[in-house]
Amino acid sequence: PLALLQDPSLLQTNALLNGQWVCGSDRFAVHDPATGALLAQVANLGPQEAEAAIAAAAAAWPAWRNTTAKERSMVLRRWFNLLMQHQDDLARIMTAEQGKPLAEAKGEVAYGASFVEWFAEEAKRVNGETLPPFDNNRRLLVLKQPIGVCAAITPWNFPLAMITRKVAPALAAGCPVVIKPAELTPLTALAVAELALRAGIPAGVLHVLTADSANSIAIGKVLCASSTVRHLSFTGSTEVGRILMAQCAPTVKKLALELGGNAPFIVFDDADIDSAVEGAFASKYRNAGQTCVCTNRFYVQDGVYDAFVNKFAAKVQTAKVGNGFDEGVNQGPLIEEAAVQKVQRHVEDAIAKGGRVLTGGQRLSGLGSGQFFAPTVVADAAAHMLCASEETFGPLAPVFRFQTEQEAIEAANATDFGLASYFYSRDIGRIFRVGEALEYGMVGVNVGLLATEHVPFGGVKQSGLGREGSHHGIDDYLEIKYLCLGDI
Ligand code: ADP
Repeated sequence: PLALLQDPSLLQTNALLNGQWVCGSDRFAVHDPATGALLAQVANLGPQEAEAAIAAAAAAWPAWRNTTAKERSMVLRRWFNLLMQHQDDLARIMTAEQGKPLAEAKGEVAYGASFVEWFAEEAKRVNGETLPPFDNNRRLLVLKQPIGVCAAITPWNFPLAMITRKVAPALAAGCPVVIKPAELTPLTALAVAELALRAGIPAGVLHVLTADSANSIAIGKVLCASSTVRHLSFTGSTEVGRILMAQCAPTVKKLALELGGNAPFIVFDDADIDSAVEGAFASKYRNAGQTCVCTNRFYVQDGVYDAFVNKFAAKVQTAKVGNGFDEGVNQGPLIEEAAVQKVQRHVEDAIAKGGRVLTGGQRLSGLGSGQFFAPTVVADAAAHMLCASEETFGPLAPVFRFQTEQEAIEAANATDFGLASYFYSRDIGRIFRVGEALEYGMVGVNVGLLATEHVPFGGVKQSGLGREGSHHGIDDYLEIKYLCLGDI
């Protein structure tokens, strides 16, 4: 699939270090999850290159922070334009290494680029404050200044958007960034970096350290331990987030963590069932269930339970599973064999504990790499099943039954996670009660998709710290300074 790129120079396999493409001392393989085919051998960098990138970023910082906000805005705007101009090629690279259907990959390019556009605009709105003095010969000011060298560790499920959502606000604020992309999807990251260079982002301001999984851990340690790095932004599992947080404690680093979710999706008796079925499908099966905001648990009220599960299972049966490059496919492969096994384990556990498979339920071994799992709906789900407490991160939809609003709220909140949640109701009183009671950073009411660049994305509890996107998204990359002037 990569032979068909309109601009083959977007296919970079070397890492970006201080404006140079470096090949590293060895390489690691990147595969197509749909076919198992080898796509590329990518530079495998290690701790030494991480130290070099941090030093180069620190050296580049003064010149970058001294550019005007408008200059940074213009560079970001050029980067946005280039990302959109190359939307098709970026999507091809993404589908090849990540597996998501091509149309979804194009959607991610537009979504990812929108953060660059948004923060190009926000760069110009980093305003300080003047405060009333406590004595007339003083003047009190609040400045906002760039925090310093930033690090970003990103996941494979959104190979482009999780980079731009972190890098664009950092650059807009006047900070350099060292990125360590996921080892499963480095090619998208490198293509995005190539376009950043073409946009005029100076050498030293943006580094992409590609690495295999062992070196990712080693690089992570260097980024966390460095006292030069003042901010670490991570999107990935809660398990790794905890490790990074502990590693950042000695240098008291500012952290942005976007971790796992266990999203509930509640359908009340008064919901519009057809709309709920559409929303349920969109929320559950995007990226074959591999997003942190994908629904993990469906709670449906007794009065509409049978109607909902039957319509939902019928809708899920229309899904087309296959290679993301094939026409009409809306369910690609899972990212790796371990992901398929996790879904299988959750399905088998649910069946053993009384779950009823309405559709799917097994791996589709006849397809390509064998990393395909049939979109699955399991009715009569129960709280002691694994899928109730663990994030499946795959195409399994367990449907639980409930009687009262209070019971649904308690079940939805009975988790250590708190990222996205969804519910369907037409009752305005209930919409406010439930919307306020859900312990989640994001609540979708009568919608199954809610992310966009100008809203605050993030979670509570063990789903993370901080918010990305929106006008809040740049705050993380700024320090507040109080200036007290006397003798006026
Ligand atoms: P996912 O659940 O998306 O696979 P992970 O949390 O395992 O997420 O990985 C997300 C990112 O974190 C990837 O870039 C990966 O290389 C990196 N990573 C995984 N483990 C560590 C670690 N111990 N230290 C630093 N980075 C890590």
